[in-house]
Amino acid sequence: MSNDVRLINIISNRNYESRKTKKKLMDELQKYGLLGTEDYNRNAELNICIGGDGAFLRAIHRNKFPTIPFVGINTGHLGFFQEIAPDNISDFVKRYVNKEYDIEEITLLDAEVCTKKKCFTLTAINEIVIKGIKSKVIHLTMYIDNNHLQKFSGDGVIISTPAGSTAYNFSSGGSIVYPSIKCLQITPLSPISSKAFRSLPTSAIIPGDLIISVKPEFRYENSILIVNDGMEFRYDDIVDISLKMSDKKVYKLNFSKDSYWENLKNKFL
Ligand code: NAP
Repeated sequence: MSNDVRLINIISNRNYESRKTKKKLMDELQKYGLLGTEDYNRNAELNICIGGDGAFLRAIHRNKFPTIPFVGINTGHLGFFQEIAPDNISDFVKRYVNKEYDIEEITLLDAEVCTKKKCFTLTAINEIVIKGIKSKVIHLTMYIDNNHLQKFSGDGVIISTPAGSTAYNFSSGGSIVYPSIKCLQITPLSPISSKAFRSLPTSAIIPGDLIISVKPEFRYENSILIVNDGMEFRYDDIVDISLKMSDKKVYKLNFSKDSYWENLKNKFL
C-alpha cells in the first residue's frame, strides 16, 4: 500500500442502522481519497466510531486508549460522545477534509487497585464505581491526598471524570462538569448517615491532581465490586484503591463549539 494513502479506522457496532451508516461513510470517504478500514490500523489518522455512547466507550477501551483522535456517528440513543448524525455524513467528511474542527482532550481516570498480593491499574473514560457485591452495603474509609475525609457506609461511591459527569454521576445527583475543567467528582450512592458512619450526602468536586484513596474496612475487603465504564471487576483481599486523573489522554474532534450545550439541552432539558 502506498504511503500516501490516508487511512481512517471505522469502528462500528453490528446493528442494522450502524451497518447502513458504515456503507454510506465508506463511499463518502472514498470521494475524497480517504480509505476506511475495519481492521484497526495504528497508522490511521482518525478513528470513526459508529453506534451510541457505549460503542464509543468500548472502542476506546478495546484499542487501549489510542492517541489517534475519535469522532462518533450516532446510531444509538442521543449519544453524548457521538457528535455526527447519520444524515450529516457528507457534510461531516467535507468539513473534516477542510480541517474545520477543534481537537478536544478527554480527561481520563486511573485507579490502582492493590490487594494483599498485587496491584492492578484500570483506566476509565466516564467513571469508576466502587460498590458492594450482591447489592450489599459496604464500609469504606476515604482519604484525599492522605487527609482523612470520611467513613462511608452505603451502596458505594462513583468517581467520575468531567466527560462522565453527565452519565451515572448525573443520575446519582452529581453535578455536570464542563469537559475542559481538570477535576474529578466523588458522588455517594445512597449514603447511610449514622453515629458510626458520617459521610458527605452530596458530591464533592476536587482538583484532578489530588489522590483519592479508598480503603475497604476489615470484613469488606472481599465484598467490593469495581465497575469501570460499565465493566465489572472483582478482586480478592483489596487493601487500597487509589484514584487520580490519568496522564493518558484521548482526543475527540469537535465540529461546533456549541455542540456541548446543544447536546446537554437536548438530552436533559
Ligand atoms: P448502557 O447501560 O447501555 O448505557 C447507559 C446509558 O448511559 C446510555 O443511555 C448512554 O447514553 C449513557 N451514557 C454513557 N456515557 C455517557 C456520558 N458520558 N454522558 C451522558 N450519558 C452517557 O451502558 P453503556 O452504553 O455500556 O455505558 C456505560 C455507562 O453507563 C457507564 O459508564 C455509566 O456512566 C452508565 N451507567 C449509568 C447508570 C445510571 O445512570 N443509573 C447506571 C449504570 C451505568 P445514550 O443514550 O446517549 O447512549
